[in-house]
Amino acid sequence: MPPVGFAPVPGSDEDPDHAPSDADPTPEPGLGTMLRRGMLRRCPACGEATMFRSWFAMHDRCATCGLDFHREHGQVLGGVTLNLVITLGAMLTVFLFFAIVTWPDVPVGLLAAITLGICVVFPIAFLPSSRGAWIALDQRLQR
Ligand SMILES: [Zn+2]
Repeated sequence: MPPVGFAPVPGSDEDPDHAPSDADPTPEPGLGTMLRRGMLRRCPACGEATMFRSWFAMHDRCATCGLDFHREHGQVLGGVTLNLVITLGAMLTVFLFFAIVTWPDVPVGLLAAITLGICVVFPIAFLPSSRGAWIALDQRLQR
């Protein structure tokens, strides 16, 4: 309640002409939600439309909310880098696990074949998810 004789500040909560605005009509999803949507290859902002027209090619914008999937030139490198880091982590984890479990008779040939297979298959299988996760991170950090 403002003191008698003082007019409320325009735009303040005490201003009778200023109705408190409701929450944003489209609440912004949290980082976890955006990452999950991105990794499932769906639009991080709305979760409705798919981001990809094929395994390797993305749409330019979300068909539902219009989110720009190519916000800046070279943005794809973030997703590729994320893919590389996770691939190396998966390869190193499998390598160390098998080496420790089979120590001291490590089957070097089998271990090399398994890690080489991971290095070839994993980045291709994970590429859309890593690009989607990167776009989700990028969108979240922009706000
Ligand atoms: Zn969308």
